Amino acid sequence: MSIRIVRTVAELRAALDPLRGEPIGFVPTMGALHEGHLSLLRAARAENATVVLSIFVNPTQFGEAADLAAYPRTEEADVALAAHAGTDLVFAPSPAEMYPEGFATTVSVGGAITETLEGALRGRSHFDGVATVVAKLLLAVQPDRAYFGAKDAQQVVVVRRMVSDLGIPVEIVARPTSRDDDGLARSSRNTRLSVEERHVAAVIPRSLRAAQDAFASGIRDPHRLESVVRDELATAALDPEYVEIVDADSLEPIADLGRPALLALAVRVGEVRLIDNVVLVPGLDDRIPLERRRP
Ligand code: AMP
Repeated sequence: MSIRIVRTVAELRAALDPLRGEPIGFVPTMGALHEGHLSLLRAARAENATVVLSIFVNPTQFGEAADLAAYPRTEEADVALAAHAGTDLVFAPSPAEMYPEGFATTVSVGGAITETLEGALRGRSHFDGVATVVAKLLLAVQPDRAYFGAKDAQQVVVVRRMVSDLGIPVEIVARPTSRDDDGLARSSRNTRLSVEERHVAAVIPRSLRAAQDAFASGIRDPHRLESVVRDELATAALDPEYVEIVDADSLEPIADLGRPALLALAVRVGEVRLIDNVVLVPGLDDRIPLERRRP
């Protein structure tokens, strides 16, 4: 089947109805596709009969109007890349299709998982925006599997909680973070970095690697590991918004690194806010993917 673009939920339903019965894989995105998104589409392609991509820059999850306005929009190129990765259907709704006049419902996931990390910095409304749009997209597409990137680790935890709490019948699949050769996590926002800033940003994966190395050498004190990250970032004069080690499942503070922990950070490079993370797994020799480690 050649790729098709639909812009309304009605068209989406009509296109998918005859294809149900065989697994549908779904990759929600905000567009400006890069290799990270394509890795999700390829995983969906390998595991499902039909692959649906959504492209929707969701206004309700942006705190700053300027960030929303600056978000790259490259639909034509996105559709070509998606077609190449084996996508069957692109759902690219307008804001009015997603939030028509009178729209009044918010899906709000409570507890530590939305209060910490990005939730603490970007405020309650960020994950309310994410949960609401993902719920709407899952109900519109009704996929068997939906694919998310580990780069947005907290988002995966929040989406899993919501899907479980609301009983939405979908399997949430998390895929590893796709990285450039120097380790920087691929992000649509990277295109807004100047050449110099892009060079500076390479310290981010270096800082996470340094913490992984410290962890592998036996350091188990979260504060010491967080300092390793901060010190490395400081070598490039970067002052992070947060560097935190939390329980990988509950996202609660963790004192004992005997359980899998998420080491997550957010840092501004110039005007561009970047996030990244690694999971520290005791006993597994955490010389794991950042993604394939240093060259
Ligand atoms: P976005 O359009 O950037 O909001 O992301 C759409 C999906 O792609 C989310 O599930 C992201 O976690 C995922 N994604 C973004 N960047 C990457 C990356 N570098 N590697 C893997 N997945 C990613």
